[in-house]
Amino acid sequence: MPIGKNYWDRVKDWAAALPFIGGQFVRHVQSVDEILRLPPPRTPDDVANTKQYEEHASRAYMDLKMAFRDIGRMNAIVETLGRDFLTAMPEGAYKSRLGQIAFLYRRMHEELANEKISRTIEEAHAHEKKSPGSWDPWDKANLREMETMYRHVAQVPADLMEKKARLAFEGRRKHRDVLKCDDWEEARPFLEDMVDLQRRIADAKVLKDNDHATDAAYQALMREYMPGSRLVEVDALFKRMEDKLKEILPWILDVQSKRKEPIPLTGPFPSAQQMWLNKSLLKVMGFDFNRGGLYETGHNPVEGGTPDDTRLVIKTSDSTNFLDSMKSALHEGGHGIYIQGLPRETWRYQPVGQDLGAAMQESQALLIEMILGRTKEFYRYLAPRVEGLFQKFGDPAMTAENLYRLKTHVKPGVDRKSADEVTYFFHVLLRMRIERDLIAGRLRVKELPDAWNAGMKELLGVEPNTYAQGCLQDVHWFVGKFGYFPCYTLGHMAAAQIHDKMKRDIQNIPELMASGDFMPIQMWLSDKIYSQGRLKRTDDLLEEVTGSKLTPGPLIAHLQDRYLEAA
Ligand SMILES: [Zn+2]
Repeated sequence: MPIGKNYWDRVKDWAAALPFIGGQFVRHVQSVDEILRLPPPRTPDDVANTKQYEEHASRAYMDLKMAFRDIGRMNAIVETLGRDFLTAMPEGAYKSRLGQIAFLYRRMHEELANEKISRTIEEAHAHEKKSPGSWDPWDKANLREMETMYRHVAQVPADLMEKKARLAFEGRRKHRDVLKCDDWEEARPFLEDMVDLQRRIADAKVLKDNDHATDAAYQALMREYMPGSRLVEVDALFKRMEDKLKEILPWILDVQSKRKEPIPLTGPFPSAQQMWLNKSLLKVMGFDFNRGGLYETGHNPVEGGTPDDTRLVIKTSDSTNFLDSMKSALHEGGHGIYIQGLPRETWRYQPVGQDLGAAMQESQALLIEMILGRTKEFYRYLAPRVEGLFQKFGDPAMTAENLYRLKTHVKPGVDRKSADEVTYFFHVLLRMRIERDLIAGRLRVKELPDAWNAGMKELLGVEPNTYAQGCLQDVHWFVGKFGYFPCYTLGHMAAAQIHDKMKRDIQNIPELMASGDFMPIQMWLSDKIYSQGRLKRTDDLLEEVTGSKLTPGPLIAHLQDRYLEAA
């Protein structure tokens, strides 16, 4: 395609559209400098990208859009390198890959955290104030999110950001290895290094924000995943959940004891068939395989990528139980259809076109995995299909009723990922308490296993036998995600709240689930949440969609409905 020709056509169009210069402008474009300041030519990935390139009366804002587009592209490259790291990269490329990723993070930091961007944001804000009529809600939100991103990155020195990126990938591998060998002594120095780095990053942010809140450092880290959130508010929500769950858990266990025990599954469930099932379910959910895929890894499952290239990564290593990998597929699939539904056609790479962060992300994943994916109707849809797929004809463990019982069986255990929907909260609470103490310096890494085991005993009444079943089980701390765990519970709350509203808007959800017709649900979520990108902030969007701010009420009601139902 002759880009040069299109470019000059575009320059003329652009000039003609300027009301104050009009046709005269073309004659004034003489110097190279003038030309360089014009929007660069579009490339094939930008064909339908209307809003990203739409001319705006603020020159500064146009410059910012191009700068953030380039940062977004670099981020997409890092994502692709990261997926490759997990699925296809040969072992020998490990060191050079870490260097490539760290380099790109440094470049992104340099592109974003500089005086010019800061000044340009100020100029754009001044324009917004002076001529509010030329700023539509999306442009306003885009500028707001640009500033949020700038502040988030600019507070932290480049070398810390680079180290963070490098350690995150080293940590993924370290976690895989220490888990295999149950090796706490190998994990400890790495975690010490990571906690130290996280504290330095948090301190830099607190210093810049002049924040005196209790556990301000932890709050600063949490804000990476939930921008603007306040720890006191999170604590209040957690306290209500904790009190209520402590009250109803014995009751739930009592009701359950009067029911038939679920029959355990007996394998084998070959990995290839599990993957076939998981891919089919993603298709049913509306995941677009033309813009993404589902891959296997020896590492922990992870979602990620961009709306154009959404690669979900799961494990199918357990051949005695297909429900575990299916759970991961539903969970990561929930993330995946959210990412794919973002407004990529109009806002690709722009901050306003991105997802709302981890709490909203987890709400979408848990809505599919825990709320819809654990309904009786879903198992009515699933049972005859898996009975055939795995050739388990007449197996009493494979009936819809038994699969439902297996997935809704409440039993306090040591493992978070296989925890039931009720006791899951206590796993999150324990991790939140511990990471907060680590960041505040109240707990040292070497004391972690003891603190973990004591906390498990207190909250769940069980204790792990190995490090791998205990404090080493999650990848989060190894990849530097301190402050992420609360997002699971907040996301679960938001999921229940969104589900309540969805049930009012779509009245035949049970029938849809039973027939595997997910389309109306996906369209509803797409309209209300995915396509909104970051137009609103999480709290505001949740309030707009559901009519109220985040509250534990709907989640508690959902758990009571499902788990206290008469035998
Ligand atoms: Zn998730």
